[in-house]
Amino acid sequence: MSDIALPVSSWMDEELTMLEDACRQFYERECVPHYEEWEAQGSFSRDLWLKAGEMGLLGAEVPEEYGGLGGSFAHDAVIAYQGNLAGIDGWGGGLHNSIVIPYLIHYGSEDQKMRLLPRMISGDLIGAIAMTEPGAGSDLQNIKTSAIKDGNHYKISGSKTFITNGALANMIIVAAKTDPKAGGRGISLFLVETDGLDGFRRGRNLDKLGMKSNDTSELFFDDMRVPASALLGPEEGKGFAQMMDQLPQERLLIGVYAMARIERALRHTVDYVKERSAFGHKIAEFQNTQFALAECSTEATIAKTFLDACIAEHLEGKLTTEKASMAKYWLTDLQAKIIDRCLQLFGGYGVMSEYPMERMYRDNRIERIYAGTNEIMKLVIARGLLKD
Ligand SMILES: Cc1cc2nc3c(=O)[nH]c(=O)nc-3n(C[C@H](O)[C@H](O)[C@H](O)COP(=O)(O)OP(=O)(O)OC[C@H]3O[C@@H](n4cnc5c(N)ncnc54)[C@H](O)[C@@H]3O)c2cc1C
Repeated sequence: MSDIALPVSSWMDEELTMLEDACRQFYERECVPHYEEWEAQGSFSRDLWLKAGEMGLLGAEVPEEYGGLGGSFAHDAVIAYQGNLAGIDGWGGGLHNSIVIPYLIHYGSEDQKMRLLPRMISGDLIGAIAMTEPGAGSDLQNIKTSAIKDGNHYKISGSKTFITNGALANMIIVAAKTDPKAGGRGISLFLVETDGLDGFRRGRNLDKLGMKSNDTSELFFDDMRVPASALLGPEEGKGFAQMMDQLPQERLLIGVYAMARIERALRHTVDYVKERSAFGHKIAEFQNTQFALAECSTEATIAKTFLDACIAEHLEGKLTTEKASMAKYWLTDLQAKIIDRCLQLFGGYGVMSEYPMERMYRDNRIERIYAGTNEIMKLVIARGLLKD
């Protein structure tokens, strides 16, 4: 693919550049040749997770005392960006690395970290986070799954839906109400190891518009008993605050996905318009093509500059929830617009599945919905702006 010369990230260094090269080779070698098969079966292979673990692509943010690289979100951003640039859009490694593992790092007890993190780094444990329920998505405070203390155990009952990695995950963070009357303050998070766990049931691997290689599933908890030590954090009722604290990184990750896909769409399109001819001219020679690509490239440059500034702020612990929400909503909106414009330049081939834009068009749609819909992002931004 053509290089489209986007700005180089200020936070990159020599080590991260080496990681970038290693990722590129890994995705090309281990993922690209199998991608169609994973799309057809509706999930990645278990083996891929283990290979990613061997390559050091899982748990890069984990401190060295728990077997990790002691890296930062910069490492995970590189791993996620290169995956999406290579078209491995559906892999839930980003969620495992940048969403699930940080809960353990930030709120896990010493015992939970020692027990779970090394196996999450190796890929023996695959992470998921189960917040959404059939009756509660944006309105998370309204979840109905309950966790009732029963001696040294909690009894968890309820169901979840739309859970990324849901068919393969065996270390699932489950949000449940320990006090149903207390609204958000009654929510607690549990670290649930599902292998051989009574009362845990997976539902359908849901068929969806895009990201078909990612297993997105329903989960059911029928009086599922977990030890009291599965509670995340020192006491009950902290789950909502924990989720709110972790959202900036989750939203930034979605911004990273969006940016990589913008770059990918533009690279493919530049290649295509130089090859394809109409009326005796290359498509690239038409002024409409040049204007469209010039506009997309300008917007991509602005987007990358903004995203890099957000990542740099996040690495210094200074990224606000509002700014992370801006990155999530604006980059995913831009991604949709640029992919649509690029597809148009492919003509009919744009909607053919042998060509890259067709899958990119389908895969990108969910980005404006999950990790908080773009409408919710705007509410968060406005709330910050209007507060006294
Ligand atoms: C492929 C996929 C993967 C997912 N992965 C996960 C996962 O791993 N874990 C997990 O817990 N969840 C996951 N989700 C769930 C996702 O986060 C929710 O779908 C999302 O938060 C929206 O919730 P909802 O679908 O219930 O929509 P609703 O909340 O019902 O929203 C419907 C519409 O109403 C709008 N709306 C809602 N409230 C307001 C408001 N106050 N003001 C203005 N507009 C509003 C929304 O923006 C949306 O347009 C996933 C979803 C999908 C489709």
